[in-house]
Amino acid sequence: MNAVRPAAPQLAGIQPYDPKYLPAEVMLSANENTLDVPFEIRREVEREVRRTAFNRYPDPLANDLRDMIAEANGLDRDQVLMGNGGDELLFDMALAWGGPGRTFMNLPPTFSVYAYNARITNTAVVDVPRRADFSIDEDAVLERLAQGDIDYTIVTSPNNPTGDLAHFSFVKKMLEISDTLVMVDEAYFEFSRYTARPLLAEFDNLVILRTFSKAFSMAGVRLGYILGNEQVLDEFKKVRLPYSVDAVSQAIARVVFANRAEFERGIDAIIEERQRLEDALNEMPFVTAFPSESNYILFRIDESRDAAVVWELLYEAGILVRDFSRAQYLENCLRVSVGTHDENTRFLEALESILTM
Ligand code: PMP
Repeated sequence: MNAVRPAAPQLAGIQPYDPKYLPAEVMLSANENTLDVPFEIRREVEREVRRTAFNRYPDPLANDLRDMIAEANGLDRDQVLMGNGGDELLFDMALAWGGPGRTFMNLPPTFSVYAYNARITNTAVVDVPRRADFSIDEDAVLERLAQGDIDYTIVTSPNNPTGDLAHFSFVKKMLEISDTLVMVDEAYFEFSRYTARPLLAEFDNLVILRTFSKAFSMAGVRLGYILGNEQVLDEFKKVRLPYSVDAVSQAIARVVFANRAEFERGIDAIIEERQRLEDALNEMPFVTAFPSESNYILFRIDESRDAAVVWELLYEAGILVRDFSRAQYLENCLRVSVGTHDENTRFLEALESILTM
């Protein structure tokens, strides 16, 4: 016998997550910070890494980091949990609040990983789609939530890939009318400076997701965290991998978090460039850009042009953006991350010449 019996049935027909992250001269596809951690901070990181024991297991919960993040947010250590990127914590949420017989409410179009995690954990997914302008259909969400069968939901603010915020008053209503566990995914909140954090003091059914990957230039290091109440975080602890946050990542993140004020100038520059990109895109023929509070802009190309072909031609010109042209709700859309002034200019010039060919 040499055959292999089938994998778990919920995996049938699933394609592994593939963001088409290809090498390119101008990388504007993954909403990274295009500038790496500043040189002086990297020097400090190197000193901290040198002091790190490689032969010992790391602190499983990264308590030093938890303390730093708790203090910055006016919380206790028990209200902070670290993960191997926000991605790990999203997966943990599906493990802890999803599963057979359980239900997740999704607000598409949004980050595709949420629905993916639900599917592989055998969790039922209820979609409450956004409106044509990508704003959340708040009444529909609240009505659906009021039915009482949703175990967990994720509201992304700013939303990826559409760039818009979930309003504080709406999140508050969601928390008030149900005991559903509501995650507000604030992976990009530093670019909007708008947070649901004050609601943590009032509601036990709220968790907030944050990451070091975007504003803090650490996508390659893999560190994210959630803020929430202690009992909820205890459930996440039951499903998390014991040593998912390695000692080197912890050392790097301690230095970066202690120096987080140094990133403010870069964040301001991204916000400024975002406006320039949005204006320039909207002036371009055949393009509609959606307003963004984040470090990327979603834009739709007129149906006289095929966005997948535009994506290909941009790539041939050395520029990688994200292709959503065939994704549900996002037909003929592409997403560009905000880069440096020069990268953005190169992207805009290439796009304009492709569209007016
Ligand atoms: N949430 C959203 C909305 C994202 O776009 C991402 C990254 N693409 C994440 C969470 C996870 O980021 P990371 O795992 O790098 O922390």
